[in-house]
Formats: sequence, structure tokens, C-alpha cells
Amino acid sequence: EKAIEIIDLKKKYANRVEALKGISFSVEKGDFIALLGPNGAGKSTTIGVICSLVNKSSGTVKVFGHSIDSELEAAKRCIGLVPQEFNFSQFETCRQIVVTQAGYYGVTRAVANERAEKILKQLALWEKRDTQARELSGGMKRRLMIARALMHEPKVLILDEPTAGVDIEIRRSMWEFLTKINKQGTTIVLTTHYLEEAEQLCRNIAIINHGEIIENTTMKDLISRL
Ligand code: ADP
Ligand code: ADP
Repeated sequence: EKAIEIIDLKKKYANRVEALKGISFSVEKGDFIALLGPNGAGKSTTIGVICSLVNKSSGTVKVFGHSIDSELEAAKRCIGLVPQEFNFSQFETCRQIVVTQAGYYGVTRAVANERAEKILKQLALWEKRDTQARELSGGMKRRLMIARALMHEPKVLILDEPTAGVDIEIRRSMWEFLTKINKQGTTIVLTTHYLEEAEQLCRNIAIINHGEIIENTTMKDLISRL
């Protein structure tokens, strides 16, 4: 089963920048894949299109078989997105932030409260449950973004540069957590510009440059050729 299927995806922004020049790749269910490439390569645009935050110019995108054109709600429900920038309300507490998110997906209050406890504990944020977002450290904010993305139990977790600007200790604990939830069945797609991060974490890799996929293979194969 394919978690994500992208065929001949193109994106030209209003300023005429061709961010994606017809990319195709797919992500199998249960996979852990890195989309690797330098700044400006088209990684965020790709993620933006998959999550319907950016309008594509042409091409096909399916999430667990649901086309983002004809079955947007079903496609969105499958996805948990961890954006690059913190975008939660600074004056809400950790618990409020994750419970509110679950509400957007129709999760009942009782279930949301239970899930919030489980997920905040897994991400070592339970002690901070009543702390406002603005008082959290950078690493805690990153973990809160992940917690929030998991509240509707998405089938695929998509993370845009999850460890950018994060120190090595926090990075390692995030890697551990992502590996664990992948083993438990969540498909994971992350963008990064560190080969080391892709190597540590991912089974497969797609390398993007100037809006084109230039490699799409297993991590093992890529490393053996370096
Ligand atoms: P579109 O409507 O083509 O999807 P957006 O609404 O995303 O484009 O962006 C509108 C405008 O914002 C762009 O035309 C551009 O001028 C500007 N812009 C935003 N982000 C960037 C960026 N990273 N690089 C260049 N221009 C940007
Ligand atoms: P990456 O995530 O790999 O750094 P992006 O997808 O952000 O790459 O950007 C790909 C290209 O599209 C870059 O040239 C960038 O400047 C341009 N771009 C990104 N967002 C916009 C936008 N909203 N409007 C115009 N150009 C953009």
C-alpha cells in the first residue's frame, strides 16, 4: 500500500520561480523516508502541496489512495504535519494546544484528554502540561509540535526540518522518538539538509535539487556508493 504517491508534480509560484519541475516519487506504508536537499531545492514546497497548504500547478498527489483534488478531507485526515516554524499561540498551555488540535479533527473531549496525557508523557512534556508555550525551551517547543501533530492519530507524520537549530542531545532524543513511532507503524517523511540525519534515521531517501528528484533509493544503496 502506498502512503503517498506523487506523479509529475509541478509548482510555479506567482513570481515565476519553478519550485517543482515535474517530480514523481512514492512512499510505501510503514516507510521512513528523507527528502534531502539544499536550501531552495523544493522540499517545503513539496510538503506544502502534499498537505494542501500550497496550490500545485499540475500533477497528481494521493495520500493513502485519496487524491488531494477530489478527496481532500480524507487525505488531510491521514497526515500529521510538523511545520518548520513554531506556529502555536504563545499564551496557551501545552495541554490546551494539543487538545484544541484534536478538536479540529472531531475527536471528543474525553478521548482528546486521554490522548493528550499519553502523547505528552511520551514526549516528556507531561510535567509541562500547564505551562504556556512561550515559557518552553526550544527543544520542548519542537516536541510540542510533534505532540500536536499526533493528536488525531495520523497514518503518516510529515516533518519539515524537524531538528533545524536544535542541539545534538535534543536531536538524538527526537530521532529516538521518531524511530519508535515508526516501528509502531506510523509512516514518516522528513525533510532535512543533513545527510547524517537521513543516514541515522531513514530507510529510504529522495534527493531533490533545483525542483527535480535526482536520486530515489534506499539509504544503504546511497551510502554504499559514496
Ligand atoms: P502562489 O499564490 O503562487 O502559491 P504564495 O501565495 O505562496 O504564491 O506567495 C505569494 C508571494 O509571496 C510570491 O509571489 C512571492 O513574491 C512571495 N514569497 C513568499 N515566500 C517567498 C520565498 N520563499 N521566496 C520568494 N518569494 C516569496
Ligand atoms: P526548500 O524547502 O528545499 O528550502 P522551498 O520549497 O522553500 O525549498 O523553495 C523552492 C524555491 O521556491 C526557492 O527558489 C524559493 O525561493 C521559492 N519559493 C518558495 N516559496 C515561495 C513563494 N511562496 N513564492 C515564491 N517563491 C517561493
